This record gives sequence, C-alpha cells and structure tokens, in this order.
Amino acid sequence: MVSRIAVQCRQCGKHLVLRITISGGHQPFLFACPYCRSELRGRLSASPGKPFGLESEDFDVTDLQDNDTDVIAVAINTDFPVSLSSIEQSAEEISITPFIALVMELGDDVTMEVMANVEALRALREEIFPHVRRASSYFTRGDLNGTRNALQKAPGGDAVDFSALNVVSVLSHAMGLLYAPIEDQSLRTEAAEEWAKTLGEALRKDKLAVESLFVEFEKPLSEHRARAFDTALNMLGAVDSLISALFAERMSITPGIDIDRYRVMRDDFDALKIRYQDAFEVASRTLAFTGRVANIAHRGDVREHADGIACSFNQALNRTTAYKREPWLADFPVAKKLYDAMKRNTRNDIGHRLVRYDFESGTLKYEDGSAENYLLFLEDYLHAVRLTHHALDVCELLWYANEAVGSK
Ligand SMILES: [Zn+2]
Repeated sequence: MVSRIAVQCRQCGKHLVLRITISGGHQPFLFACPYCRSELRGRLSASPGKPFGLESEDFDVTDLQDNDTDVIAVAINTDFPVSLSSIEQSAEEISITPFIALVMELGDDVTMEVMANVEALRALREEIFPHVRRASSYFTRGDLNGTRNALQKAPGGDAVDFSALNVVSVLSHAMGLLYAPIEDQSLRTEAAEEWAKTLGEALRKDKLAVESLFVEFEKPLSEHRARAFDTALNMLGAVDSLISALFAERMSITPGIDIDRYRVMRDDFDALKIRYQDAFEVASRTLAFTGRVANIAHRGDVREHADGIACSFNQALNRTTAYKREPWLADFPVAKKLYDAMKRNTRNDIGHRLVRYDFESGTLKYEDGSAENYLLFLEDYLHAVRLTHHALDVCELLWYANEAVGSK
C-alpha cells in the first residue's frame, strides 16, 4: 500500500509529498530533500488495523496549500529497491507504483517467488522466532530442560515427541525453519556434510587426539556457541533488512537490471554493519575449531594447519587474525563458497570502520574515495546471515561428537 503524506522540510521550509510504501513494522528511512538536499530522516511505524505513526526531527507533517504548485513527490521505500528515475517526480504526476515498476523489471515469477519468501519471513518472525530465541538462550546457558520447555511452547511444539528426539536436533530444526526463506538449502547441507565427513575421518584416524581436543574445546566452544546463536538470532530477528537484501540479490542476478539505477532508503547501515562484523568474526573463529579437526583428519597432527603453519589452539582461536585463518578453508572447499560469498562486493574496510553510508547517492563510501551501492552490501549481508547457519551446524555436530566420545 502506498500512502501520500504532505510534509514540510525544516531546513528550507518547502513542501513535498512522501509516497511511502507501507510494509509494516518499523521503517526507518533517510533521503535527501529534493529542494535543499538536506538530510531528512523519518521513522514510520505501522501495524495491522491501526493508524500508522510517522516521526521525524527533520520535517513536519502538514497540509498542502492550494497555491502549492510544482510540489515534488519523493517515493520512499524501505523494503524493495526503487528505480532512481521514479524517486523524485512532480506530485501531480500519476505514475505506476514503485512496486509495479519493479514487478515489470523482475517478471511475475521471480517477484512471486521473492514475495512468498518475504511473507514466510514475516510470519516466522511473528510466530516462531520468539520461542526459538528463548529456547536458544536456555541452550547456550547449558539448560536443556529449559530449552525443551521453550520449544514445547512454540506452535506445533506440543506435537514433538521429545522422548524420541535429541533436544539439540529439535532446536536445530527450529532454527532451520527461520533460515529456510533466505537460504540455498543444498549448499548449506553440502557444507554440513563436508564438516561431518572431516569430523568422522578425524575420529577414525585418531580418536584419542579428538577426545583431548574436546577437552581443550570445552569452555571456548560453549562461549563460541553462545556468540554464534546471538549473532544468528540478531540477524534473523531484523527481518526488514533481510527483505531488502532478498530483493537486492535477485535484482543483481537478473539480466538486464542495472542495480546502480536502484535504491532503498533504509536507514540501518550502523546496525547492519555491526551484525555483519559479528557474523564475520563468528565465521572466522569457527575456523579455529574446524581447522583443528581437519588437522587430525588430513595431516595426522592437531597442530599443523592447511597452510603448513603449526600453532596451538589458543593461538588459532585468540592470537591470530581472520586474514591468517582464511587459508585453513583449503580443507573445506564447500564451506569456502559460503565464506567467499560473504565478501563478494564488500571490502574488509567495514571491519575497520573506514566506511560510511552516503544518503544522497545511496552508496557506501570507502576511505580511498571509492563507492559501492548499498544494495550490493545488503547482498553480502544476506550471505553473512547464511554463513551463521554454517557456524551453527559446526557447533551442532561438535555437540553430537562430544556426546559420542563421552568426554563430557
Ligand atoms: Zn529542504
């Protein structure tokens, strides 16, 4: 639904019309005043059956006067990208909505597919997510009874036979439901199988070495697992960012669409950048665990990594950098695809905070002056979310293996 709201810029005092696509929830947005190019921020809150609320410290909601001619209308979209050509138009001009314009570009089938995932994301966020988050919080504190109770209260949870199932695998299944609308199931499964194979190989080759590795892992692994769950749930909880990202991804792979001609007005870079960094860090630290196991499986020496460098577990986990762990992915060619996808467009500078969001161009500006469309960052962000699922898969299989060797 598109709503037309007349507002007055507090900087230049001129009137403009916002054509806001109301998608629900909290919609923080940011755009340039079409007259004075001042930065205008607003926040729309909409929930079904209630009047929406619009707040801003940069403009006031007003009525248009009869003598207001040549008023410019600005199309505000916080979920799907809008073509630059349709962002600023005369308020009198009758034009197709930005969504219809996007459907014409993407085609019916692709749009329907993305919209089905968007609907699923919103419904899961509402119905399942709070239960899964509570269950995860019990689990990461080591309380399996609490985990079970929280899962039983989720929709459908009373039908689950917990006496026949491992509570950890039920939690993992519930997490999997949350990821389903945004991920490539086959690649994720293949990466988990690759990890299971390596773990099995290590156990077969040197069970004693794996057992003592688990003793060494114990505390750091429970901390790592808690961080992995936190990061994953923070990302999965912020569904609006994922929705923009799903559209951005489809647009960037659709032939004939020039993504630089599109923009979303989301005002969320500061929040996303932190989650992106968290995911990057969790994924990198995951390599300290998987790397040790691969060392036993492939080289028969827990200390010797794929790049030929030998180090202790503490060094691998705490006294190195993501850059130095990266070569260890040589032991995991499938998982490497997930890792590489996360920084296809985005540069490491985000980790060093040398990047800012430029609201006028809708780009991320790097310290050396180069720029990148925000939509491409969103695409990488989506891959970062997918990578957190792999980190959780790694933790889950380590949990089973640890139970199996009985060193717990
Ligand atoms: Zn202005």
